[in-house]
Amino acid sequence: MPKEEFRRFGHQLIDWIADYFDEIESLPVLSQIQPGELKAKLPKSAPTSGESMETILTDLDQLIVPALTHWCHPSFFAYFATSTSAPGIFGELLAAAFDNKAMLWRTSPASTELEEVVLDWLRQMMGLDAGLSGIIYDTASVSSMHAIAAAREGAEQRIREEGMSGRSDLPLLRVYISEQAHSSIEKGVITLGLGQRAIRKIPTDSAFRMDVKALSDAIAEDKLAGHLPICIVATVGTTSTASVDPIREIVPIVEEHAVWLHVDAAYAGSAAVVPELQSILDGCDRADSLVVNPHKWLFTPFDLSVLYCRHLDLLGRAFSLVPEYLRTPEQDNVRNGSDYGIQLGRRFRALKLWMVMRYFGADGLASRIREHCRLAQQFGSWVSESEDWELMAPVSFGLVCFRACPKQMGDRELDWLNESIMHSVNKSGAALLSHTKLNNRLTLRVSIGNIRTTEKHVRDVWALLNQQLKLQK
Ligand code: PLP
Repeated sequence: MPKEEFRRFGHQLIDWIADYFDEIESLPVLSQIQPGELKAKLPKSAPTSGESMETILTDLDQLIVPALTHWCHPSFFAYFATSTSAPGIFGELLAAAFDNKAMLWRTSPASTELEEVVLDWLRQMMGLDAGLSGIIYDTASVSSMHAIAAAREGAEQRIREEGMSGRSDLPLLRVYISEQAHSSIEKGVITLGLGQRAIRKIPTDSAFRMDVKALSDAIAEDKLAGHLPICIVATVGTTSTASVDPIREIVPIVEEHAVWLHVDAAYAGSAAVVPELQSILDGCDRADSLVVNPHKWLFTPFDLSVLYCRHLDLLGRAFSLVPEYLRTPEQDNVRNGSDYGIQLGRRFRALKLWMVMRYFGADGLASRIREHCRLAQQFGSWVSESEDWELMAPVSFGLVCFRACPKQMGDRELDWLNESIMHSVNKSGAALLSHTKLNNRLTLRVSIGNIRTTEKHVRDVWALLNQQLKLQK
């Protein structure tokens, strides 16, 4: 692309993005297209000759935008609401321009060293101890899989060398998670060849936190049966309710059985940058690893997940493999990212986090997260004060779990009613909610975590929910 054209379209695109954010509230949050609709409008094969940027950008407006669900819309309350931010977008833009593959220190010293520094800043902001070193992966699913691989390596069963299949000398390796743990842990276990039967799900208490006595009993029982416990995964901010497992109480069990403690703080770990919330990580000074996703609640564009690990040597033992063509003279004195995971090349993700952290500062990040938590508490108070609605779990961080509960309806009818309210709200395009099941009851979730969400948006979705309830009753 000629330089002048690059400049012209570059400026045009930044203007386009600025207008997009300006006008985002006029767009439906959930894409209104039908499955297959976009595919049907796109050519079956790529163009033979190049097309102009004008044509491509026209199609962006006409084809791509209608097929977007707008995660940055301030009324996006589904799943865990997250959003990008301007400094994060700039970081992505620059990373794409540099196009570094940070597989070795020398292939991107900037990426390697900035990653170490920025993750140490984040560690300090979260109040984590200096024994934890950070490494960036794409997603929490991948971070946790790497943590479990390191735990498996630490179990000293020569699995890297000999694998697991066909081995009669290998006991059943066990990983303990709560019933509320994210499915990514089980997927990681499957990927690592431990098999789903390695997963032992521990029940939770009335506030959806891991039952420590049940955990202790399960491990004792497994040991009696000759199984080998290798890892306990505790969650700070579970996906359904944002509950926090009692890590401080889990620590003695970790000590007693010498298992790896991995903490999945993918969502709520970011809240530890708020000084008065730092106690959510109480007990993590004994964690062997912890995952936190700046792409969830630190206004950093997807993807960027951080794994803090106390034993980078074990991660290295699990994954490092250096063929001749990757040998470098400095390899013993530097960090080579490819030694710590399955990927060789790694994106320059630290750049966007660096920009986000510098632009907002610790106080700026904390004040936004604090406000999201306040809004969630406020929404929760409206729910508890209303006769027509009830809370289904304690309000935790930026998440409210609730349902409509008009009198004289049984649980089945209530499930149907709540599902129907949710679909109507979502279909309207004015807001997006998601759901879960708690104690076998359909539960609506309002997650507040988007940088553009204000009290007005939260009031609006509450009004919309009530309006829908009236219509459906
Ligand atoms: N862990 C928890 C607690 C989550 O809530 C999620 C996703 O919402 C994940 C892990 C997976 O995150 P990712 O999409 O980064 O793999």
